Amino acid sequence: MKAVFEKARAWIELDEKALRNNIEILRKLLPEGGRLMPAVKANAYGHGNAFITRVMQDAGITDFCVACVDEAVEMRENGIKGDILILGYTNPAQFDLLYKYNLIQTAVDFSYAEEMSKYGKPLRVHIGIDTGMHRLGEPAENIDRLREMFFMENLHTEAALTHLCASDSDAPSDIEFTNMQIDKFYHTIDTLRKEGCEIPKLHLQASYGLLNYSELAADFARVGIAVYGMKTARNDYDKFNTDAELRPVLSLKARVSSVREIKAGESVGYGLAFTAERDMKIAALSIGYADGLPRALSGGVGKVLINGERAPIIGRVCMDQTIVDISGAAEVCAGDTAVIIGKSGNDEISAYEIAEDAGTITNEILSRLGTRLTRVML
Ligand SMILES: *Cc1c(COP(=O)(O)O)cnc(C)c1O
Repeated sequence: MKAVFEKARAWIELDEKALRNNIEILRKLLPEGGRLMPAVKANAYGHGNAFITRVMQDAGITDFCVACVDEAVEMRENGIKGDILILGYTNPAQFDLLYKYNLIQTAVDFSYAEEMSKYGKPLRVHIGIDTGMHRLGEPAENIDRLREMFFMENLHTEAALTHLCASDSDAPSDIEFTNMQIDKFYHTIDTLRKEGCEIPKLHLQASYGLLNYSELAADFARVGIAVYGMKTARNDYDKFNTDAELRPVLSLKARVSSVREIKAGESVGYGLAFTAERDMKIAALSIGYADGLPRALSGGVGKVLINGERAPIIGRVCMDQTIVDISGAAEVCAGDTAVIIGKSGNDEISAYEIAEDAGTITNEILSRLGTRLTRVML
């Protein structure tokens, strides 16, 4: 493992203990008999699907969800044995993959369920119900169509789901909306069951659903960002402050590739976007926006840590490289490590800080971390 650190130009360190800790913390919130169904889409929120799912499987996780069929197939090829639910759309031309790899597909609406039924071979299905997000799922109001979906030929329906879209907020109107979604979901399920639909399992909570509405009766919780030890934004509603016990799984680091001195009046980087006001020492780092370091951090907005000191990004973040001001840092040499997300000395830059500086959320920062980064589980 050490060899990776010595050679890599830019890399992600994964903390296995933190991941196992987060799984245990979140499991404690589940109702009796409930199971975590971690969201490992987008390369496990940028962490690296193969590394993350291997540890999860070892920690007893038997259910996973992803966004698309290719992600599910890759997991099967990596030896993941449990159930894998595809949350998003799979092209009917790819239904063969669902069948071949024993995957579960969300029926994203009525006409999609008809397409699935036409495939002609049995497919495993979770039926999506739209309770107010208006993204996927057959509208809860369409009871007749929903009932029909449960009786379609070739559909082996194992569960029904909905998605809560405002459970991360304690604004009274958001709480009211979430309670409306919850009531609508359970009411729809009751009605369908009374009309003879067999609905073995239910799920409706993502991370915030579990953190803030943990009392709900459900068979699965589709936890994404929380299992990686983060919230979407620092100040999001977290009713029981569970977040305090979650630990970030990921650190992001890059190699210092070159150190140089420039004189007052000299410029740095593309478009001469930065001009030195005084003589200064700068360093090039081997990480850029193609690796997922947001270009919005250009021009002093973002900082990195080198030997425990903050080094502001100067000029424009490039595709593969970034230049930082190390005038304030002690001796820095080529080959040293710059910490983009994580701890260095007594300081820490969290994914929250990067997300805030870049004007976005942790989910976006993490999920866009590139495939070119080396990943290592510690
Ligand atoms: C991505 C996703 C999740 C996980 O969301 P988090 O907020 O990261 O926990 C759960 N359910 C659905 C339908 C999703 O698309």
